[in-house]
Amino acid sequence: MSPFLLFGGVLLAVATVAGADTPVPIDAGIKTHYSQSPDALLQEQVAFLDNLLRFVKPVSVLHEVDDGPLFDPDTQEIWMPVSFSDSIKEYFDDANAPVADVYFHTLMHEVGHVLLNQYSLPLLAREEDAADALATVLLLEYVDDGARIALNAANMFGYESEQYEWFEESDFWSEHSLKIQRYYITLCHVYGSDPDTHSDIVNDEYGLSEERAASCEQEYMRIRSGWLGVLKPYLKR
Ligand SMILES: [Zn+2]
Repeated sequence: MSPFLLFGGVLLAVATVAGADTPVPIDAGIKTHYSQSPDALLQEQVAFLDNLLRFVKPVSVLHEVDDGPLFDPDTQEIWMPVSFSDSIKEYFDDANAPVADVYFHTLMHEVGHVLLNQYSLPLLAREEDAADALATVLLLEYVDDGARIALNAANMFGYESEQYEWFEESDFWSEHSLKIQRYYITLCHVYGSDPDTHSDIVNDEYGLSEERAASCEQEYMRIRSGWLGVLKPYLKR
């Protein structure tokens, strides 16, 4: 056997082994489960995700729950409690609080946990940051007016951060980045996705500094290609 053929055989064997480790992207679907008063808005958002992504195990989105938002890997349930819409309304202190927008970003964040879990995707830093990044990438790449939705979700992080008068140890050992960091990173990714359109995000009042903004385009492009790259077998479009 020539060295070339041997080399080719090794490559083939590696590809076969790698293929065997990849879960088959069957379409188990994501569905809402309500016992009463279904929220049409949440149903629409879940249907959008069902049309976008393949899931290897069925995922249920529950609304009439006491805790969350969260993803439970044991039951493959996403909990999106009714109380979450109440707190969005409180934080924005406005009859026009962007409940649907914050919900959508949060639902996509939870779906990030689902995908990482179901497909054992590589994790190169904190899972919570990866889930936030996925939500922003999916909104920006697949949803009309996704930038506005992501910015409203960022504003929710901003309002939540205003509730802190001081930090406790638990804020720093939490799995999540601080709310104020989640605010700025989301601004950075929206700005980085299209700096010309979103130049107003760079400002001295609650916006990005020019120093931070300078790296956002490259950062967003790498995160976008990272997430869309690993999701390629699981995206329906
Ligand atoms: Zn999370």
